Amino acid sequence: MNPTNPSALAHDFMQQGYSDDCPIIDTHTHYGPYQGAYLPVMPHEKMLHALKRAGVTKALCSSHEAILGDVDFGNAMTQQAVDREPDLFLGYWVVNPRYSDAMQRLISDYENTRGFVGFKLGPEYHTYPLDGPRYAPALEYANEHRLIVLIHTWGGSAFDSPQQVATVAERYPEVALLMGHSGFGDFETSVRVARDYEHAYLELTCVYSAHDFSMLPAGSSTPVQLASSLHVNGIIEYMVEHASSNKIVFGTDMPWYSPHFAAGAIMFARIDDEARKDICYRNAEGLLERVRPTSAA
Ligand SMILES: [Zn+2]
Repeated sequence: MNPTNPSALAHDFMQQGYSDDCPIIDTHTHYGPYQGAYLPVMPHEKMLHALKRAGVTKALCSSHEAILGDVDFGNAMTQQAVDREPDLFLGYWVVNPRYSDAMQRLISDYENTRGFVGFKLGPEYHTYPLDGPRYAPALEYANEHRLIVLIHTWGGSAFDSPQQVATVAERYPEVALLMGHSGFGDFETSVRVARDYEHAYLELTCVYSAHDFSMLPAGSSTPVQLASSLHVNGIIEYMVEHASSNKIVFGTDMPWYSPHFAAGAIMFARIDDEARKDICYRNAEGLLERVRPTSAA
């Protein structure tokens, strides 16, 4: 036992890289190549290996291509990944508001998928506001079918700020809204949104990392001013204290970030093992019980 960390789960992770008592459901992963970036664990087998060695039992995923390139080609790529590993991957269908005349078709195409549990929205990538009318048909559909919707969110963004999440949370009470990156940089507002809306969740991708996002060329591009440094130590404790461990889900942006880095941040946060289990798998399990994956023949 590590004398500085009495957690039995942390002990398991330190010893073997995973814990049988704490499987991981990663609610934010991507699939396939990313133009202009070398991602060492992107190839299928390497991704499987990296997920398995951290005890990830389910990975909710969308292809990079669907978000950043050809949405139809990219969604088909996600479908292929799900078909290839139906016990591991669950799909997020991407809708792109920049093709508003295709929105309705994209939504009906969703009904012809297998193993999808909801939508992934990237308002900042598509430079279209989350609370704008072009997203409404997808969010209405998600509300009607009680889907999971993972949204890229960023503090201070004109497109997907936590304040805009609150607006859609108000409109669509049946959608499980996952705030990707927990509105990075404006954690206080995100935590309030997760506390105030039963169906809004904080998703941890890159929350625990110390990055200078002002250096990124696109996407997560709204410059974030963190109070004193780029470090966000203590953020998981802050979320648990103010929003509760029931409102936080595990995520990595895999293959960008390692599930072990994220697991380490959770295992070494000053929270108890029950809270760690909530974050690593229980909350996601609860969400997956609400939504039946698509099952077109
Ligand atoms: Zn992502």
